[in-house]
Amino acid sequence: MTAAIIDGKVVGAKVRAAVAVDVAAWVAAGNRQPGLATVLVGDDPASAVYVGSKRTACVEAGIADLHQHLPGDSSHETVAALIRQLAADPAVSGILLQLPVPKQMNGGGLTALIPAEKDVDGLTPVSAGLLALGMPGLRPCTPSGVIELLDHHGVQIEGAEAVVVGRSDLVGKPVAQMLLQRSATVTIAHSRTRDLEGVCSRADILVAAVGVPRLLGGAHVKAGAVVIDVGINRTDTGLVGDVDFEAVSALASLITPVPGGVGPVTIAMLLRNTLTAAELQAK
Ligand code: NAP
Repeated sequence: MTAAIIDGKVVGAKVRAAVAVDVAAWVAAGNRQPGLATVLVGDDPASAVYVGSKRTACVEAGIADLHQHLPGDSSHETVAALIRQLAADPAVSGILLQLPVPKQMNGGGLTALIPAEKDVDGLTPVSAGLLALGMPGLRPCTPSGVIELLDHHGVQIEGAEAVVVGRSDLVGKPVAQMLLQRSATVTIAHSRTRDLEGVCSRADILVAAVGVPRLLGGAHVKAGAVVIDVGINRTDTGLVGDVDFEAVSALASLITPVPGGVGPVTIAMLLRNTLTAAELQAK
């Protein structure tokens, strides 16, 4: 079997176009234009690139760009005061604190100041709790992107054996929760898992969110499995995922490439969350 490629750029563009249409309809109905406040502290080049892409995507979708940039030597309290101010500002639908923040501040504590209805990254303890309880709320963007890719390709999640490798709060745990909510039988593997090959090769849907280049190879994948590679690893030969694409695409039925798989859908889900946040606040 040779896997069909899941094209994240196509799916991301589809979601972005749909959000732009929905934002225009929202504004045409007399509602306030949704606005996203990205908060960047310091001048880390990678973070600046990520924030730049998010801001451009916002403007293209008709969402107001309410970016905030603070110097890298700001105090924890200065950033906390800004987040509180954005939380109280009705023009701000969503707040995204770009992580990591400089060492003198506590990123988790700052993130927790974002009210759940403006938490477009879906990473606050309240949003994580709502997800765990299956209650409505804003979901983290990368895990939502994984589900969007599966749905776009009509992959049956209900009843499927899903294995998620990685248990981070950012990706592994929330994607496992979302698959569970869609009635998959979910296993979460991590660095202490015994027999990773055996666990992974049970999967109908295998999600890799590890951060180890090409960790998962042919021995980890059942013939016909759907493989979603969240990993982004910089190597001497360029960006690679957590999956050995060449070996695994000979076995899988569907597979995401890196780059061009999950990444482009992540930003699209941020736009979707910003509109959802605006709708939540209007209620
Ligand atoms: P993370 O916080 O470092 O978590 C990595 C997870 O992988 C941990 O749970 C760790 O287990 C597990 N792990 C590490 N080595 C392992 C091994 N040899 N076998 C099995 N499990 C192992 O990383 P993350 O934030 O979840 O990110 C994961 C990857 O996704 C990274 O490459 C990141 O760049 C990428 N990413 C991509 C996007 C996107 O938009 N495409 C978004 C976010 C992240 P323990 O818990 O036991 O340590």
